[in-house]
Amino acid sequence: MIKTSGYAALSATAPLAPFEFTRRELRPNDVLIEIDYCGVCHSDIHQVKNEWGGSVYPMVPGHEIVGHITKIGNLVTKFKVGDLAGVGCLVDSCRTCVSCKEGFEQFCENGSVGTYNSTEKDGITRTFGGYSKCIVVKDEFALRVPNNLELSHVAPLLCAGITTYSPLRHWNVGPGKKVGVVGLGGLGHMAVKFAHSFGANVSVFSRSASKKEDALRLGASEIILSNDQEAMIATHAGSFDFIIDTVSAPHDLNHYLPLLKRDGVMVLVGLPEVPPTVEAGNLIFGRRSLAGSLIGGIPETQEMLDYCGTHNIVCDVEIIPPTQINEAFTRMLKSDVKYRFVLDMKSI
Ligand code: NAP
Ligand code: ZN
Ligand code: ZN
Repeated sequence: MIKTSGYAALSATAPLAPFEFTRRELRPNDVLIEIDYCGVCHSDIHQVKNEWGGSVYPMVPGHEIVGHITKIGNLVTKFKVGDLAGVGCLVDSCRTCVSCKEGFEQFCENGSVGTYNSTEKDGITRTFGGYSKCIVVKDEFALRVPNNLELSHVAPLLCAGITTYSPLRHWNVGPGKKVGVVGLGGLGHMAVKFAHSFGANVSVFSRSASKKEDALRLGASEIILSNDQEAMIATHAGSFDFIIDTVSAPHDLNHYLPLLKRDGVMVLVGLPEVPPTVEAGNLIFGRRSLAGSLIGGIPETQEMLDYCGTHNIVCDVEIIPPTQINEAFTRMLKSDVKYRFVLDMKSI
């Protein structure tokens, strides 16, 4: 076994604390990644606090991982020692079901294995995430990272990036489309960057007027204050082709559905603890759709990273030592981050 250390939650209420644990010895198809940076996703907070249920402790969160390959199994051809590599939300899946074969491992019909707070295919071994010094992962679930981008700014692409890129691609967001992004946080700011890069006209819905300058800099053409529902309806009813909702806390979807055009689509990626209520009339009148989207499969995650390499797209980050992780959680809950915390794991 490979000894390592990181930060773990020991319960739903305790602060994260230093934690020693082991990684498996490399199998023939495994790579060992020395982790340089790990992004802090709001899903880490939901899971640490057991807001989705089913959390198991100790839990080492982190699924926005980038680092360097320091060892490879003898059957690995995709990477060599010294290469950059990334790991997102998935570390295994059955590879044989229809979804896996089509490259949608996140929807594996036999259950995919999450990077942390999950159980390996052996049914016993718990997975531990990227708030740690190293990770051992199957080469198929490690992503190639473009080497022209600032590595610390790449880490959040592995979740915030793919989770917004995938639905924007699936629903063909591009020139001539009016797109709304609800919530300007980690996912939201990447949704703005991608939708703008794909040629759409982007509006940001935010509670914070102070985010206006940033929204425009990131590629939006306007910011709409989401706490003034009457003004939203008066000025924007029936005008959006597509809305992506990245909000992490309970909020009223019925404030946004009337803003969609006929046949418009609202996609939920934010997953608050409390399920939303939908007024059917908001969908029926206008044949509107309400949909959801979950991260992205391995092929699309690679496509997204390559797209970012070609178009020079990275995340806006605040780099912090892992010792500040609890403070980072507290600040994220106040929407006080521009726009993703990234842990510098080299400083452990
Ligand atoms: P984040 O950085 O904390 O951003 C969330 C944003 O939501 C905030 O910046 C804020 O935007 C808005 N918000 C927060 N509380 C709100 C409230 N009470 N009412 C209205 N708006 C509020 O979080 P994140 O990392 O982007 O994650 C967002 C959500 O996506 C989380 O629920 C996370 O678990 C989920 N997620 C889902 C997937 C997936 O595959 N579907 C993948 C990753 C994450 P403003 O300040 O601009 O209003
Ligand atoms: Zn995430
Ligand atoms: Zn499968």
